[in-house]
Amino acid sequence: MTLLIKGATLPDGTRRDLAIHDGVFAEAAAKCATVIDADGLQALPGLVDLHTHLREPGFEQSETVLTGSRAAAAGGFTAVFAMANTSPVADTAGVVEQVASLGDQHGYVTVRPIGAVTIGLAGERLAEIGAMARSRAAVRVFSDDGKCVHDALLMRRALEYVATFDGVVAQHAQEPRLTEGAQMNEGALASELGLAGWPAVAEEAIIARDVLLAEAASARLHVCHVSTAGSVEVVRWAKARGIAVTVEVTPHHLLLTEDLASSYDARYKVNPPLRRSEDVDALRAALADGTIDIVATDHAPHPVETKEAAWAEASFGMVGLESALSVVQTAMVDTGLLDWAGVARVLSSAPAAIGRLGGYDAAFQVGSPAHVTLIDPTARRTFDVAHLKGRSVNSPYLGIELPGRVVATIHGGVPTVLGGELRSAEEVAGG
Ligand SMILES: [Zn+2]
Repeated sequence: MTLLIKGATLPDGTRRDLAIHDGVFAEAAAKCATVIDADGLQALPGLVDLHTHLREPGFEQSETVLTGSRAAAAGGFTAVFAMANTSPVADTAGVVEQVASLGDQHGYVTVRPIGAVTIGLAGERLAEIGAMARSRAAVRVFSDDGKCVHDALLMRRALEYVATFDGVVAQHAQEPRLTEGAQMNEGALASELGLAGWPAVAEEAIIARDVLLAEAASARLHVCHVSTAGSVEVVRWAKARGIAVTVEVTPHHLLLTEDLASSYDARYKVNPPLRRSEDVDALRAALADGTIDIVATDHAPHPVETKEAAWAEASFGMVGLESALSVVQTAMVDTGLLDWAGVARVLSSAPAAIGRLGGYDAAFQVGSPAHVTLIDPTARRTFDVAHLKGRSVNSPYLGIELPGRVVATIHGGVPTVLGGELRSAEEVAGG
């Protein structure tokens, strides 16, 4: 498909036309080009999510590669990294190749599988890291996310191994003994609500240990979903020391606080838990100053019955792909903390670079892959289930007014969203 996006505002604030031909940005559009009027619209490079749970294989009642890809496209994403906690676990070349090829087949987004660090996420023996790296899926990110690699020796070995092929270990930083039975942020509110507390130090202690292990191994470490002001301080120290650590924060940790637990509505139950407003402020400041590198959704779909349960029994997690950009606009752009160039960095070029995903380092330049998201930042919408395009509806934003609307998403020259509407599987697969 040949496209001409007319009058888009680029992240640097300049305004120009974007011609797309054969999947890449071109000098000029062909005469037959489909024209997209982008007057008043903000163009961003296609968004990249380093932390998505697609649930396939094994948990297709929550999400599949197809439904998660559709949710991603609706949210403006053109690539997602799929976490390994499926069933079977993505701990072999066979499983990661299956997930990657399902993504290619559907075509809504590029799906890059994340390999497990340990076999079955059991934390006992290293998974086939080398085989996954050498497979057709060319895995570069490894994580036991959902669980912490808490054994220091295994973590050290994993870091040393991935360093040999420029991979990265993405750690879910949660000291297991300090969080046994934990239900929400530790503090006065948890005591008042009678819910077991989740101490900040359970996250911070693992991050402190792991940055030192990464330094010793001369390896890259990525820290998933940091949630506390103390974690930010540890990371700031590690970066000042020259340690190769990168860090993500989720949209919900940039906006929501522990007070929401007072409702006992398990839509607000998430791992790591929602924290205090002081933590939210620290996370926003750290994302603005670059201490935190990226925003990643931790999109975690769950069936209704596991979220409409009593708080203590309910699953941890929230869906996030469809709302991420709006939440980042609320928390970071509308507050003046980040401009659109900053959003492009934290939601596209930086996550692609961490995951060693090519094609995102020269956005909008002639010859580079045409991954584009067009948004109307002035639009406002009451977020509801109709905006959720995945299989699950466990969003904390239902009924809340959010700014911004994705008008078009273009993945490698193929529109996946046009005129604000998700295109059909047939249209997308057919280009
Ligand atoms: Zn996690």
